[in-house]
Amino acid sequence: MDMQTSFLDRLFESGLLIDTGIDGLYGRSGQFEDVIAAFERLIDTFGGSDGAEAMRFPPGMNRAFFEKSGYMKSFPQLAGTVHSFCGSELDHVSLLQCMEVGEDWTKGQEATDIVLTPAACYPLYPTIAKRGNLPKTGGLFDLQSYCFRHEPSKDPARQQLFRMREYVCMGTELHVTDFRQRWMDRGVEMMKAVGLEVTIDVANDPFFGRAGKMLANNQRDQNLKFELLIPITSAANPTACMSFNYHQDAFGTKWGLNLEDGSVAHTACVGFGLERIALALFHHHGLDVKQWPASVRKALWG
Ligand code: ATP
Ligand code: ZN
Ligand code: MG
Repeated sequence: MDMQTSFLDRLFESGLLIDTGIDGLYGRSGQFEDVIAAFERLIDTFGGSDGAEAMRFPPGMNRAFFEKSGYMKSFPQLAGTVHSFCGSELDHVSLLQCMEVGEDWTKGQEATDIVLTPAACYPLYPTIAKRGNLPKTGGLFDLQSYCFRHEPSKDPARQQLFRMREYVCMGTELHVTDFRQRWMDRGVEMMKAVGLEVTIDVANDPFFGRAGKMLANNQRDQNLKFELLIPITSAANPTACMSFNYHQDAFGTKWGLNLEDGSVAHTACVGFGLERIALALFHHHGLDVKQWPASVRKALWG
């Protein structure tokens, strides 16, 4: 039996995840949400004293910013756009006729000004650039958003709509690489507190196509991306539950993010995959939260 299907089936049977008929698109039970809320409070405990500015964006972003980000160059296969009906009454009649006979009614849909957010930090960079130069202390931001990626899968840890909690740091190279290292240490410590064994490894993003292979190799060679891995659906291929990204001055240059002295800001972000962390907890400690080890319950619920 396929182990992935089996964990997903058990999640459905227990009601923790709710089947919608689409792979990677699930409802979540109150219990599942409670675990995510508790873990987010743990994140707050670890990051709280750093003084990050909290911001929450909706799961859609300005299409113009999305275009400028270059996402379609790197990950066209993952993007999701929002299209709407913008036609006349006559167009509406043919739309309904199309649906009636089971033809593709979506062809006439037009792109709106909104695309689905692919990572929690994407709306942040243009927002901060608009403020002008960063203060002397740089920038530190606390984000959380539902994100969309078109990667349907039977693996419950690979969803199409999932939440990412992120901290984003802007400053000098040293400042942002220190930030990234601090969160790698904290990530290991946090997961230990909730009874999860982790490994950290260098990683790369799934850049599209043949040219993408070179970008991925370059990212690895320069140690720009690390992942904190926890076995969920496979022991041989553990799942990335956190990632730690150093963008060098790429986003600073693209968005015009400058430090107080006018030099280009370096940026880094750390992301928590909230559903993945909840799934790791359910996988390791069982589907019944009341049966989890006391130390884990204490770390999460005090
Ligand atoms: P993977 O290598 O597994 O595809 P990723 O490198 O694409 O992960 P990032 O782009 O760094 O992941 O996203 C930040 C975090 O968001 C990841 O560390 C992970 O925990 C979570 N995440 C990414 N993709 C998904 C997904 N499809 N479903 C659920 N969580 C995800
Ligand atoms: Zn990010
Ligand atoms: Mg991915």
